[in-house]
Amino acid sequence: MASYETVIGLEIHSELHTKSKIFCSCPTTFGAEPNKNTCPICLGLPGTLPVLNEEVINLAIKAGMALDCTINKYNKMDRKNYFYPDLPKAYQTSQYDLPICSNGLVKFDFEGKEIKVRINRIHIEEDAGKLVHLENEPFSLIDYNRVGVPLIEIVTEPDLRSPKEAVAFLKVLKGVLEYGEISDCRMEQGSLRCDGNISIRPVGQEEYGTKVELKNINSFKELQKSLEKEQKRQIELYTFNEQHKIKQETRRWDSAKAKTLPMRSKEEAHDYRYFPEPDLTPIIIKQEQIDNIKDNLPEMPAKKIERFENEYGLATNEAQIIVASKSLAHFYENVVAYEVSPKTTANWILSDILKILNAKNLEADDITMDPKYLADLIKIIEKGKISNTVGKEILTEIFESNKSPETIIEEKGLGQINSSEELEKLVDEVLAKNPKSIEDFKAGKQQATLFLMGQVMKASKGKANPQIAKKLIDDKLLALCV
Ligand code: ADP
Ligand code: ZN
Ligand code: MG
Repeated sequence: MASYETVIGLEIHSELHTKSKIFCSCPTTFGAEPNKNTCPICLGLPGTLPVLNEEVINLAIKAGMALDCTINKYNKMDRKNYFYPDLPKAYQTSQYDLPICSNGLVKFDFEGKEIKVRINRIHIEEDAGKLVHLENEPFSLIDYNRVGVPLIEIVTEPDLRSPKEAVAFLKVLKGVLEYGEISDCRMEQGSLRCDGNISIRPVGQEEYGTKVELKNINSFKELQKSLEKEQKRQIELYTFNEQHKIKQETRRWDSAKAKTLPMRSKEEAHDYRYFPEPDLTPIIIKQEQIDNIKDNLPEMPAKKIERFENEYGLATNEAQIIVASKSLAHFYENVVAYEVSPKTTANWILSDILKILNAKNLEADDITMDPKYLADLIKIIEKGKISNTVGKEILTEIFESNKSPETIIEEKGLGQINSSEELEKLVDEVLAKNPKSIEDFKAGKQQATLFLMGQVMKASKGKANPQIAKKLIDDKLLALCV
């Protein structure tokens, strides 16, 4: 039986981190009252003229530098014509044949091998609005707040070979955009979303198979699931020699049904009747501007991983996991700043914090806990005030309440009992209740000590310092023997 190779290329839309929109001064804030962030320009009213926001150019150049692209010093905006209710001008101002960046490269390690993904282009464009479909109503609502929010579209070459590889790439890309402060990459708010293009070919065949485009995927999980599902559908068609049924089309991912469904047959560029935007002059970029951005580029994930290995003694995979999220790396460095062991801190983050996040279906961006509290918790455990196990419970509690570990220990009475007086009282009580064990001990049965120790632990609800309690029991039993 022939085996098949999967070919994937991604088109990623990312909202740029600017204060105002691309062609007007309306704010870009997410979650504002519907249609609040609008003006005649972004509503596309006749007679208005766009003015290009310079920050959009700067951020696009930054993205280009971070992804190893050529910055095209002469580029221009074009009109992409199509009618859709969320696009009030009936065209999108975008870039067609002369994008701002081209020919980039992203390298990353995945399952022990180096993956190279070529970037075909990065272009700038404006976002569209949002339709709100109401249940049981014969109409839809429209919110134009998002119209004119600046976007970059990053188009990769079809260099990815599996759904998992595609997800790993998108994670790397998200890291670069976040670290570069290019986009806030809030996938759940749609500020980073991606189209997955996927085709199958028999191993050994040079020519690519017919690709299908999966539109507007906005989480890593959905990207993986939708690509896997489409991969399976296509391989099945190949297996039954029905590959002609794979049509070049755009499919929608229905996550509830876990199915890809046809949406429309793929448009060709000429369907959009692209032409140069007559209301804007071409964009001319000076070398100075590029150099200035290059000199001020923040530390990128690859560099940070290296630094975490050298400065904090982390293993590569540990550093990779922490650095994969800007919020997590930030949290980590904030904890370490309180002078706790970087290695211990990494262990807590990698095993416990990630586990809690996972169980709650949260992302590292959602960590609200004060980094000092983790540092405090580590110190308290190192001093022997509480056990590691109790420490884990406390961490969960800190997550819930954002109370300090000291407060939680006090409120829940979780501190270890180290006071000899307190422990002596407990031991005396246990001995008084268990005369039979004392007789056993006198008769030479050593296990009696273990039983009594168990009773002390039980009476103290697990908080007795075991070394001190054991010594007290031993001493008291011996004293009773003479
Ligand atoms: P179109 O002309 O349909 O827009 P492009 O060549 O511009 O196609 O590519 C769009 C996206 O699809 C890119 O991310 C590219 O990597 C990807 N792509 C192109 N051909 C294939 C293929 N045969 N299989 C998978 N992905 C592909
Ligand atoms: Zn506006
Ligand atoms: Mg294309």
